[in-house]
Amino acid sequence: MAMPGKELLIRSGQNGKLWFGGALVCLSVVILGAAGYLARDFSSTEVFVASILATIIGAIGFAYTCRSVRCPKCGTRWFWRMVSKRPGDPRHWSIQHDSCNECEYDGRGGAR
Ligand SMILES: [Zn+2]
Repeated sequence: MAMPGKELLIRSGQNGKLWFGGALVCLSVVILGAAGYLARDFSSTEVFVASILATIIGAIGFAYTCRSVRCPKCGTRWFWRMVSKRPGDPRHWSIQHDSCNECEYDGRGGAR
């Protein structure tokens, strides 16, 4: 499946932010999984604290991605639009878009 939006994120320098936020979310999932797996080796308080920490890390990663993955030209938060707007909404941005649906920035350097 073609993902022109991925190219756009790379061209506009947003890809690293997406990965960083995604890495935090993955880390959170790993900690949650480990806490569940190792639960009987630790006290319930330790497992509880680990679960809370993991949830916070995941929430931070998600919030970071929503806030920081944005159009360098007009500041539209692409990732936030992807998760908060329904497909079909003209404001919805998806990985199928190879340009900003607000200002048409496409990262190719052509002034529009
Ligand atoms: Zn834009």
